[in-house]
Amino acid sequence: MKRLAVILLFVSFTFVSIDLFAWGQKGHDIIACIAERHLTEKAKENIDKILGGKSMIYYSSWMDNVQNSPYWKGGYDRTKTWHYFNVDEGFTPQNMPRNPKGDVLSAINMLIDSLGTHQKELSDSVKFDYLRMLIHLVGDMHCPMHVGRATDRGGNDFPLKWFGSKTNLHSIWDYNMVERLHAWSYTEWQQNLDRCTKEEFDEMSAGSPEDWLTETWKITCGVYGYVKPDDNCSYKYMYDYAQVAEHQLLVAGYRLAALLNKIFG
Ligand SMILES: [Zn+2]
Repeated sequence: MKRLAVILLFVSFTFVSIDLFAWGQKGHDIIACIAERHLTEKAKENIDKILGGKSMIYYSSWMDNVQNSPYWKGGYDRTKTWHYFNVDEGFTPQNMPRNPKGDVLSAINMLIDSLGTHQKELSDSVKFDYLRMLIHLVGDMHCPMHVGRATDRGGNDFPLKWFGSKTNLHSIWDYNMVERLHAWSYTEWQQNLDRCTKEEFDEMSAGSPEDWLTETWKITCGVYGYVKPDDNCSYKYMYDYAQVAEHQLLVAGYRLAALLNKIFG
């Protein structure tokens, strides 16, 4: 009986996790790996201290895990809405009514303000949490289906097929694209994407979190317009969107590095 209860708990955890995960672990690892390569020495040192010597990659998906874990007693339920920003058809990020429980933009701005201006007032454990959240959420903000419509729960209720298997638009962008595009490890992704000059890095990491969110939303509009429910997405879809997916992972890494250098450098 005890064994059955454990299995049921595991199954329910798995189900809850699947449609809420962002980019999948691979995407977040790639973004953190790219960002780590662009930290200043001073930022690296300060971040190392807060993370207790672990890498940013080690913690890149921590925020997805704690929000879903039934075992976690840390009170992270309130962060569930922080992973996305809904924009329904006919709205823009600027005129869409905001989620009163918070969204990825308000969360990132709060984290930047707290870690930047008010860092001295934060306890070590809050600083540790906030840094891990920032590492994760800058990634989420660049995932097109994290700026999806509320009406279909960010594409979770938009049924599609991926190479013939049933899935949905959210999962294709969180997981399938990254896993199918290249059979690379996150370090190989970094080596193959992260090849820009310092000028290109500066140009790509310019702007504010609101600008970046708006950029993602424009991509999201195209993503919605490209398919109809129950379409089968395969090679054509993958190649048409390969550069977009790769670009989003790269700029997310660059922007995360720029933010962290500003705060900790
Ligand atoms: Zn997330």
